[in-house]
Amino acid sequence: MSRQDYEVIIGLEVHSELSTKTKIFCSCPTKFGAAPNTQICPICMAMPGTLPVLNEKVVEYAVKAGLATNCEISQNSKNDRKNYFYPDLPKAYQISQYDKPLCEHGYIEIETKEGKKKIRLTRIHIEEDAGKLNHDELGGGSLVDLNRAGVPLIEIVSEPDLRSAEEVEAYLRKLKSILEYIEVSDCKMQEGSYRADVNVSVRKKGDTKLGTRTEMKNMNSFRSIVRAIEYEVDRQIDILEDGGKIEQETLRWDDVSGKTFSMRDKEDAQDYRYFPDPDLVAIKLSDEYIENIKNTLPEMPESRKERYLKEYKLSEKDAKLITSSKYLSDLFEKAIEVCNNPKAVNNWIISDISRILNEKELEASDIPFSSKDLGKLVILIDKGTISSSIGKKVLEELFENPKDPEEIIKEKGWIQISDEGAIKEIVLKILEANPQSVADYKAGKEKALGFLVGQAMKETKGKANPQMLNKMFKEEMQ
Ligand code: ADP
Ligand code: ZN
Ligand code: MG
Repeated sequence: MSRQDYEVIIGLEVHSELSTKTKIFCSCPTKFGAAPNTQICPICMAMPGTLPVLNEKVVEYAVKAGLATNCEISQNSKNDRKNYFYPDLPKAYQISQYDKPLCEHGYIEIETKEGKKKIRLTRIHIEEDAGKLNHDELGGGSLVDLNRAGVPLIEIVSEPDLRSAEEVEAYLRKLKSILEYIEVSDCKMQEGSYRADVNVSVRKKGDTKLGTRTEMKNMNSFRSIVRAIEYEVDRQIDILEDGGKIEQETLRWDDVSGKTFSMRDKEDAQDYRYFPDPDLVAIKLSDEYIENIKNTLPEMPESRKERYLKEYKLSEKDAKLITSSKYLSDLFEKAIEVCNNPKAVNNWIISDISRILNEKELEASDIPFSSKDLGKLVILIDKGTISSSIGKKVLEELFENPKDPEEIIKEKGWIQISDEGAIKEIVLKILEANPQSVADYKAGKEKALGFLVGQAMKETKGKANPQMLNKMFKEEMQ
């Protein structure tokens, strides 16, 4: 049999840190990047005798996520203890949810090569994050940082509905965009606030029973996830083709070697000895409570996209790219309020801004300048104060050293030369230095004009007004 005879089955468990100001069971701050153990208290350090109190915002955010992903919201829910020992889990159990999660039976829609596809969500539940071990800091030892202990998470569990690495990537991007739109998580993958456990199995096409799966934990880059799935699918098929059996286990993906390694046998639910947390009361939600949260849901990506097609006449592709991120979409709308030029703002976002984000490996939410700065940049070009090539330099500067674009061009001396006398001087100089191009132009070679304008731009370091150059070169060569 060959690879074509197998079907790939994938289900994801996504952990997303909620952007509440304080932790799930105490009032410690959740801000990322603080010095180790500066955001802790007796509760999140698990001192004996302390009692957790559920942060109401956590429930609100989880319900919001459930509503935005077409889930049913459970009006009777509770917290359970999931018992396991790990050095960064000081209570030796994690407070999570077992049999009564807040949200169930949802779905999100992704676009695949074969068209739209619904991926079913089994559940969304709330739980606390663990601390973090820093290895090898003190001559070989490991140190524990509890700042992250008790940071609220939602875990979004999908049904095994995904059939390829591309579908997984589409799903993860879509879910991330939804969570960003409803502003419950910043989903910063490099900071670990959006990470996925990837469950992979294969089966012969036509089989109805699922194959044995392996699970790769805590993956936080799209590229590694795609590579890891491809590797793991090949590994499993090779084993089956050799007549072997897949072990159900937890694997670690190693990005450097491009391979998966076994970490441990997979534990089952009964290994965790779940039981209701006796320190916390049941979570009972009224119709009114849920209805109020429903009313706070913002306009979602699809509907924004449709609006951009109609209102701003963007292309389908551009509208999709911009609305895929709430940050880009907000940037777009607010910059237009400043400059009233949707076409120009659209072009900046889909070309130069996207390119720079890619090069610098930044997320849209890391853009350091404001929508007002972008709007002003567009105005400066529209008014002819700077050329669009200088505009590109201003944008680079906005990423490095964000401030008012007007100030940037003043400081750098980048104001466009639009003075007739000055332009004429440059034109004459370039004509004199390039007699061959002049002859070519006169002989009907239009391209020569472009060359001459290019030389003049070079001479002025991009500051000359290109329309004026064009016009004056033509006049002088007649
Ligand atoms: P846990 O991993 O915590 O034990 P579950 O048993 O509920 O939890 O499964 C977790 C994830 O694994 C779900 O996203 C589910 O869709 C996926 N999954 C379950 N069985 C398979 C399988 N045979 N192949 C691929 N994914 C699977
Ligand atoms: Zn605390
Ligand atoms: Mg799992």
